Amino acid sequence: RWDGDFLTVRGLIESGDLIVVDGAKGSVIIAPDEATVKRAQRVIRQMGRREAERERLRGLAAETRDGYRIELGANIEFPEEISHVKLHGADGVGLFRTEFLYLNRDRLPEEEEQFEIYRKVVEQMAPQPVIFRTVDLGGDKLAHYLTTSRELNPYLGLRAIRLCLEKPELFRTQLRAILRASAYGPLRIMFPMITRVEELQQARNILAKVRRELRAEKQPMASEIEIGSMIEVPSAALATDILARHVDFLSIGTNDLIQYTLAVDRVNEAVAHLYDPYDPSVLRLISHVITAAHEAGIWVGVCGEMASDPMIAALLVGMGVDELSMGPMLIPSVKATLRNILLTQARELAREVLRLPNGQQIRTAVARRRRQFTRGAL
Ligand code: PEP
Ligand code: MG
Repeated sequence: RWDGDFLTVRGLIESGDLIVVDGAKGSVIIAPDEATVKRAQRVIRQMGRREAERERLRGLAAETRDGYRIELGANIEFPEEISHVKLHGADGVGLFRTEFLYLNRDRLPEEEEQFEIYRKVVEQMAPQPVIFRTVDLGGDKLAHYLTTSRELNPYLGLRAIRLCLEKPELFRTQLRAILRASAYGPLRIMFPMITRVEELQQARNILAKVRRELRAEKQPMASEIEIGSMIEVPSAALATDILARHVDFLSIGTNDLIQYTLAVDRVNEAVAHLYDPYDPSVLRLISHVITAAHEAGIWVGVCGEMASDPMIAALLVGMGVDELSMGPMLIPSVKATLRNILLTQARELAREVLRLPNGQQIRTAVARRRRQFTRGAL
């Protein structure tokens, strides 16, 4: 009997029956036949080997066979994820989304509450760095106590850095909490949804002012903190050289960059088939950002979902990216693949792909190398 949440099975299972539960597939097989048991045992052995391989990879660097080192960061949304970050062998937190503090509550989080949480995250990760992304509210993440007026196009509206600059008290409080946490371990700060250089300058001015205030209050803080901008909007990608003069690093948020480049709402099922990380325009923009960042002498990472596909990760490395950040669980397979390839192979793939005219051909070109790139990898 199915009551919407639970399935009650009466009379189907006898005491002492063998049951195969496959958590990945979501299946339960009662009194399986011999072939099913053998298959299940094979899967269990395979999982054991993968687990052992994950453990082996934990302490190893993400480095190609010819010695090109890439930083692998983890994306987190909650402080509780830090244990997973460590378990999966990340080099740090490449994206700490801080929205959770603002959602599902009735009013803005106070500085002290934020500081305590940020401090714990930084302390737990030290000596590895944590990249704090200042709050990205708006779009699909609405805090009802903040909404001023209903927007017809929320993704093009008062979102992320725009909202922070519109509500400087909210922004100041978060920056104070982050700066105070910097006394407890290495951290970096980056701003989301930058579309024009003026926003970056304004954000940096507010940050500098907050820092002066804290100094006057004799609050302990790190003396040097790297400041970065996310590149999530085509205007920012095309102006990389301009933005790069004002920051220490860039992080490409491809989830949004794809949405804004292709004009495809990232949460609209009806147009999901048009949301394509392999589209030549997206890959060209990414490649442009990497080249322009390097010309300006700063490092550049990718923290959108596409970085967690081992083949796309290899492609991004071929384009020259310095850092990739992804869900903690996905780190081992990306690391295994990067350790399996030569930088020269990745570069060759990038060169080939950037010449192709459409997403389908690019996908095929990438798939052709999958076996070679991921052989023996997780
Ligand atoms: C992105 O846009 O790629 C990103 C990392 O930010 P978010 O997914 O939180 O919008
Ligand atoms: Mg984004």
